[in-house]
Amino acid sequence: EDSWESLYRVVLLGDPGVGKTSLVSLFAGVQDKDSSDQQREDTYERTLSVDGEETTLMVIDTWEPDKRPSEEDNWFHNYCMQVGNAYVIVYSITDRGSFESASELRIQLRRTRQSENIPIILVGNKADLVRCREVSVEEGRACAVVFDCKFIETSAALQHNVTELFEGVVRQIRLRRDSK
Ligand code: GDP
Repeated sequence: EDSWESLYRVVLLGDPGVGKTSLVSLFAGVQDKDSSDQQREDTYERTLSVDGEETTLMVIDTWEPDKRPSEEDNWFHNYCMQVGNAYVIVYSITDRGSFESASELRIQLRRTRQSENIPIILVGNKADLVRCREVSVEEGRACAVVFDCKFIETSAALQHNVTELFEGVVRQIRLRRDSK
């Protein structure tokens, strides 16, 4: 039991193309990602030292099922909604549709995991694309307040705030663990 205590499953949710795989690759320290040829990996595990304590995160990279998802897609999506110890909901600041999807995902999570106080971090990725911005920082922040989650803007391209994001996940998990 003890040895499992510091392993946590973190599920990434969000529309296709918002940057989930890019964020998780940076987290995992994958150097040259060649996404073109093979099936991508879905889970990455890494031990982080945060505030002098080690915690292992198993990060699960997922996607939104298509409009007509296969049974397997549906199964995986539902599975992910059940198993996370924490959730990272990603949108792109250049894509308002993905911001709206993020709200829907938050609502779905609230339904599936009603009674649990699971940490959720709302992430506005692609913060480097300032000229294409469709969602302001204020909107992101306000959404996080309404949905009772943490908020951070990141850029996987510039590797900005990515470490901070995953350290934040660890801290949110610990806050809940320690208040039990
Ligand atoms: P996923 O479908 O959510 O996993 O998204 P990907 O990680 O595959 O990224 C989709 C596309 O957006 C790729 O071409 C990435 O290189 C690009 N991308 C991801 N993050 C960023 C970012 O922070 N800034 C910019 N400019 N492009 C990004």
